[in-house]
Amino acid sequence: MKFNDVLENLTNYEAGKPIELVVREFGVKEKDVLKLASNENPMGTSKKVQKALKKAAAHAHLYPDDSMFELKDALSSKYKIKPENIIIGSGSDQVIEFALHAKTNSKNAILVAGTTFAMYEIYAKHTGAKIYKTQSKQHDLDEFSKIYKEKKDEISVIFLCIPNNPLGECLDRKDVYKFIQSIDKDVLVIIDGAYNEFATFKDSKKEIKPKDLLDKFSNVLYLGTFSKIYGLGGMRIGYGIASEQIIKALSKLRAPFNVTTPSLVAALEVLKDEKFVEDTLKNNLKEMKKYEKFAKKNGLEFIPSYTNFITFLFKKQDSSEICDKLLRQGIILRNLKGYGMNAIRITIGLPKDNQRVLKALKELL
Ligand SMILES: *Cc1c(COP(=O)(O)O)cnc(C)c1O
Repeated sequence: MKFNDVLENLTNYEAGKPIELVVREFGVKEKDVLKLASNENPMGTSKKVQKALKKAAAHAHLYPDDSMFELKDALSSKYKIKPENIIIGSGSDQVIEFALHAKTNSKNAILVAGTTFAMYEIYAKHTGAKIYKTQSKQHDLDEFSKIYKEKKDEISVIFLCIPNNPLGECLDRKDVYKFIQSIDKDVLVIIDGAYNEFATFKDSKKEIKPKDLLDKFSNVLYLGTFSKIYGLGGMRIGYGIASEQIIKALSKLRAPFNVTTPSLVAALEVLKDEKFVEDTLKNNLKEMKKYEKFAKKNGLEFIPSYTNFITFLFKKQDSSEICDKLLRQGIILRNLKGYGMNAIRITIGLPKDNQRVLKALKELL
């Protein structure tokens, strides 16, 4: 059967290996599997969320509130913006999909960092758009500007991942604002803030404020997710914040009931659980230092991280081999070979998790 041409150069996103797979393939007991591969929250699910979900279970027969009034209201208060500036997606992934379907086609292109979140490229390819990447793996705004000027007729969307997944580096807010100022108003600049809460906690110069973006620019879309710091990866819920004009355009692509009732309930509840968020931030910063210390002591290169993961770069060892050996012990990490790097990305876990990872790593070095 013949399919659309765009499918020919499409590959699936390589997701972190699920716990069940390690249990099945390597006979590791489920309780002994440690997954630090997808930047999920090691604190688990907020107790408040768990309670609210039990209550919501009795209403599973009803369609969700498609206006998503309560969650939009809560996000409006949090960011001091209007509900009309918000779109909710089944993960912020879905908002990326809406944005690319709204702005790209086979005649134009997107511009991204050399090594960044793979879904930008995948969704752009759905539309037949071209992908321009900077030579540098990490975000380099001078290089972004150079390519933008050269390919101005083609580029319709620019992605800045602040901080960047899977490398962990983070641009300063003032440089980002200056860069956006230099971009044509018809180009959509997408700021992916999936880990911005972690960056802000470490260094306030990294904080991207959606309200600032709205006040200053008509062509920026900010993305937030409940999958990382809020510990709701399994609920698939995220959001986009932009001018009313952009939100209206993206909303045309949103199918009704794209977010389930439990997801809406969970997101609303976790926004109220400030302690859960605070504990997550504190654990992350404290435990990150242990990985940095380990790397320095063992001559490993690492990228200073503003996220909830750290990327170790290997010279002597092979990252695939290390990941494979750890997997057999039940430790799931993210090999970055697929990104053309001899590197491993490790999600920061609880103290006992990190101790186990570092001990196992030490034995392999
Ligand atoms: C995790 C992640 C997302 C979105 O995740 P969802 O689960 O779809 O909300 C977006 N961007 C980056 C960079 C991420 O790491």
